[in-house]
This record gives sequence, structure tokens and C-alpha cells, in this order.
Amino acid sequence: NKMKRIAILGSTGSIGTQALEVVSAHPDMFQVEVLSAHANADLLIEQAKMYKPNAVVLTHQPSFEKVKSALSSSPIKVFFGQEALCDVVQWETVDIVLGAIVGFAGLHSTFAAVSAGKHVALANKETLVVAGDLVMQRAAERRSLLVPVDSEHSALFQCLVGEHPDSVDKVILTASGGPFRGKKPNFLVNVKASHAMQHPNWTMGAKITIDSATLMNKGLEMIEAKWLFGLKNEQIDVVVHPQSAVHSFVQFNDGSLKAQLGIPDMKLPIQYAMAFPKRIPNAFKRYDFKQFNTLTFEEPDYKTFRNLALARDAMFKGGNMPCVLNAANEITVQAFLQNRVDFLEMSDIIEKTMQKVDFVERPAMEDYERSDAEARRYAEEFVKQSPLATH
Ligand code: NDP
Ligand code: MG
Repeated sequence: NKMKRIAILGSTGSIGTQALEVVSAHPDMFQVEVLSAHANADLLIEQAKMYKPNAVVLTHQPSFEKVKSALSSSPIKVFFGQEALCDVVQWETVDIVLGAIVGFAGLHSTFAAVSAGKHVALANKETLVVAGDLVMQRAAERRSLLVPVDSEHSALFQCLVGEHPDSVDKVILTASGGPFRGKKPNFLVNVKASHAMQHPNWTMGAKITIDSATLMNKGLEMIEAKWLFGLKNEQIDVVVHPQSAVHSFVQFNDGSLKAQLGIPDMKLPIQYAMAFPKRIPNAFKRYDFKQFNTLTFEEPDYKTFRNLALARDAMFKGGNMPCVLNAANEITVQAFLQNRVDFLEMSDIIEKTMQKVDFVERPAMEDYERSDAEARRYAEEFVKQSPLATH
């Protein structure tokens, strides 16, 4: 029946480009209405020519100018900035919004899409980490359908279809353990960004790849799960599962466990979130029991991978603390990628930033903005004090 018109925010990223592959594979189902990028003008121009959206948005001024002149002879509208992003997602011609911007930068456009009652396929986990209470409340008020793209949350979502909320005992997020699983601080102190960028099972954007190496990614996902599924902190567990075949578990009050399995390919949860409540056939590789014949599970090492413990603390503290954790993490990840702090210092800086920023118990959107900005300032200061940053 009817074609779904989609706005892909962050179309030049790892998730964004894979979402476009899904669109290409199902031209009878999806039509691109809007694309957005930050600075990658060349790729955005290429995508615009290929998918012929109604509009594109850029958030980096020089890239905006470049795209505008490159598309000047086409009917495609070219807009600049955060406000334009929040505006286009509310258009009547947009049925689905895929939120695939990385970091706090994705918060306002996601919130705008939810406010307009759109079907939102959400990859941008930081949005829920920062302001999950406000986003979920708004989604309920405006009857926005929010379907997670994050593979673990997609798994939980799939396990929960048809279940009564009171039947859930807990959720168990699986973690691959990242490239440094089993390593100790004496090893980690020397690892460089280039080592951390080598993830065993997934290829992803730079930020989430570092987050997977520090296990912050799993910490962010605990908080993401809390808001998405309305859980208590005590109902969220993590288990390390290096094969990344089981994408997560739900345990019910009768002791029964449900899991969702599949090959590690993000196009699977992306297409699920875009097509829900339908599933659509695809030509992806099928699960091979010879390749995935042994599935193993172990406890996460909270002592070594302190970012995971810090995220869990922030979740229990609540209020603006997850927002502060997220901001400090975004700063330290950038600094680590630029070789301005070492692997272990990232946790020190996040911890110190969480101690510095004043606690706000029931933040409004403005409080989250203020906490984010404040945490970034403190974290930047701490980065500058690193022995690596000073030469
Ligand atoms: P990438 O870094 O690959 O892509 C990020 C996208 O966001 C790019 O299109 C980029 O534009 C855009 N962008 C960056 N900064 C800004 C900004 N300030 N304002 C507006 N747009 C911006 O990230 P991923 O695709 O890996 O991740 C996207 C989100 O999905 C993250 O929240 C991540 O946690 C989540 N996710 C990703 C998974 C994966 O497999 N990659 C798995 C599960 C979740 P440009 O290219 O022009 O700079
Ligand atoms: Mg994930």
C-alpha cells in the first residue's frame, strides 16, 4: 500500500548510509523526503542526487554553502542549522524520522519529531540518556511511535511485543566486551585510538566505537533501556557475550527468558524500526549455526572498565547526572581520538565532572542544556590537565 516518506537525520554516518541501503532495497516501500548531515558535503551531495529528497539540511556553515551551490540547479531545498532540522521533521510530508545523528546534537530534532507525533526510528541513544524522561513523556502525549534502532533495544522491543508490562522481571543487555575484553589497567594505559577503533564484530562511527572499547556504550544503553521500556534501575543487567549473536534477553516473572538472535548487521534493526509493525524480507546473510556454534556468557569487569560503573552510578543518581556523564564522555572521547588523554584518564575525567556539576533532581529541557554545557566546560578543563595534552 502507501509509500512511507522518510527523513534521515545523519544520513552520512554509519547508520544513515545503512538506512539508505535499506531504502534502495525496498523502493516500493520507502521514499526519501529529507536528508541531513553536519559537515560531509560531498557525500550528502551524492546522496541527494541519488535519492532526490525534497530537502536537505546541513549544520556546518561552509558545508551548507557548498551543498547549496552544488544543488542550485535542482529542485532540492537546502537548509542550514539546528532550527531547520527541528522544522523539517515536523512536515506533514514526513511519515518516519530516523534519528541517526551522534551525541547530544541529536536531542532537539528527535524531540521535535516526537512532539509532532511521528513514527521515530531512534539510533541516537544519547537523546534518551540525556533527557529520556522528557522524550518518553512527550512521545506518550503525542502518540509518537518510538522504535529503537540500537540492536540490544531492538531485541528487547521484539521480545516484549505481546507481553504484559507487569510480567517483566528484568532485561539483560548483551555486550560484546569490545576489543579489550579481558585486559587489565596495565595494558589499557597504553592503548591508542587506532587500537580501540578495531572492534571485533561491528563497524560503526568513531564515537560509538570508542564507547564500545570503554564499555561506556553499554552504560549508555542501560539508561536508554530504562527510559524506552519504563524500567526500574534494578531491572537492568548486563552480560558479556563475545559472539554478538544474542542481541539481548528479557526475563519474565515466571523465570522464562526470551532472546532475539541474528547475525551482527545493523541493517536488521534499522529495517525493523523503519517497517514496524511489519517485517520485510531481505537478502542478508542468514544465521549460520556452524559459525555461531558456541555462545558464551560472562560477567562484565566493572572494576577495569570504570565507564560502565560510572554510567550505572549516573543512572541510579538520576536527575541531570546521566546528562552530565554523557557530556563529559563526549568530550573525553574526542580528546582520546586526538591523543590528548589516555584510555584510563577518560574515566577519571568523567568521574570528576560528575562531582563538579550541581545535581538537579527534576530537570526541565533548559536544565539539561545548562548541565550539558557546564559539564563540557569542566571536562575540557580536566582534559587540558592531562600530561598528554600539555605537550
Ligand atoms: P557516525 O559518526 O558514523 O555518523 C554521525 C552522523 O551525524 C553523520 O551523518 C554526521 O554528519 C552527523 N552529525 C555529527 N555531528 C553532528 C552535529 N553536531 N549536528 C548534526 N549532525 C551531526 O555515527 P553512527 O552512525 O555510528 O552513530 C549514530 C548514532 O547511532 C549514535 O548515537 C550511535 O550511538 C547510534 N548507534 C550506532 C550504531 C552503529 O552501528 N554505528 C549502533 C547502535 C547505535 P557528517 O558525516 O556530515 O559529519
Ligand atoms: Mg548497541
